[in-house]
Amino acid sequence: MNILILGSGGREHAFALKLSESNKVDQLFVAPGNAGTDKVATNLAISPTDFPAIKQTVLQNDIKMVVVGPEAPLVNGVHDFFLADNELKNIPVIGPKKDGALLEGSKDFSKQFMEKHGIPTAKYKSFTKDNLEEGYTFLETLEAPYVLKADGLAAGKGVLILFSLDEAKTELKEMVTNQKFGEASSTVVIEEFLKGIELSVFVLTDGKNYKILPSAKDYKRIGEGDTGLNTGGMGAISPVPFADDAFLDKVEELVVKPTINGLQKDGIDYRGFIFIGLMNDNGNPSVVEYNVRMGDPETEVVLPRIESDLFDLFDGVAKQNLEEKLFHVTSKTATTVMLVSGGYPESYEKNKEITGLENVKESTVFHAGTTLKDNKVVTSGGRVMAITSFGDTIEEALAKSYRSIEEISFDKMNFRKDIGFDLI
Ligand code: AMP
Repeated sequence: MNILILGSGGREHAFALKLSESNKVDQLFVAPGNAGTDKVATNLAISPTDFPAIKQTVLQNDIKMVVVGPEAPLVNGVHDFFLADNELKNIPVIGPKKDGALLEGSKDFSKQFMEKHGIPTAKYKSFTKDNLEEGYTFLETLEAPYVLKADGLAAGKGVLILFSLDEAKTELKEMVTNQKFGEASSTVVIEEFLKGIELSVFVLTDGKNYKILPSAKDYKRIGEGDTGLNTGGMGAISPVPFADDAFLDKVEELVVKPTINGLQKDGIDYRGFIFIGLMNDNGNPSVVEYNVRMGDPETEVVLPRIESDLFDLFDGVAKQNLEEKLFHVTSKTATTVMLVSGGYPESYEKNKEITGLENVKESTVFHAGTTLKDNKVVTSGGRVMAITSFGDTIEEALAKSYRSIEEISFDKMNFRKDIGFDLI
């Protein structure tokens, strides 16, 4: 079977590598891909949100399954587009339709969903410019820090955590009246601040059955000790030592089952990944957010730990017989460290040649912001590549990732030297 993966990050390179290991997969295509996916698949210069171009390539290349990496095509309705087209409707898309993608596309929708189905989450209310005064009153009932979230997609920047009530009120006004985050913040969710340690749990579902994938913890801030600006993610670890069996059982009973049942009750036929951002407060899970796709860089530690055939799992999602599929995960720990361009997450330069990749022996290099130029691998984004390693312990795996990084270089290369620091 020929498969198309939409996206261009480390996540999509990890999908491509894993799928290339399946003997049921013939040709793999990635749109648009990067210099890493180019080694295991055919890159296509198509945007993941250009649906007519995707249709054309699917028909031309006899593609029989589409795997969606990022959220934008899902929120924009790529799955609905396939279902509505006579020539495409029998080609399975791994990723939810627009109705399911709202779990990520609208914070207000996802909070209502959780409330309706009794899923533990922070107390909240939503406001627009029409009830701004009520927003101020609600803020007064909460204690600092105050959490303000733009309802819509805001490129990961739409969440503010503020320590003073005055500042929270000012920011609320900026968001709803002056559209601080554009249209995305015309509705704002204000919620209680959750204490605890954050982690992510990933679920693959065919709408009825599900597999709980390995848990992971990511490191969002640019600076060591989790300081500085937020990024797309600077590294990740799987499994998460503090997510023990008792905690994960609670997550399954209190969060995963009610989520899958809730989607069914609401008539949402959800086929794909659900990323559940959780707070562990003294062993009790609370949902911080849902995403409707895998995380990046979490995918770069979660997928390598899955020993079963990923194509089989996707086929189970498509045919709604996921419960029959083998699912085995190694007990080894996987770590990944992201190499980024100097200056990221603010402005940075591109087109820097990356050398030494051929000397990496102990790790897998997942490309993100890379491209090929005159047969050389050069940087093309802020997050450049994720260096993933295995070990019996976090320390062993991290030591391999950091030794591999010594082999790689590009101008102004930056990375965090303390990934996993809080877990060792
Ligand atoms: P979100 O996009 O909803 O995941 O929010 C981004 C980040 O803000 C999360 O990963 C958390 O670190 C933090 N955050 C969001 N909501 C809360 C909350 N209610 N309490 C504490 N931290 C939060």
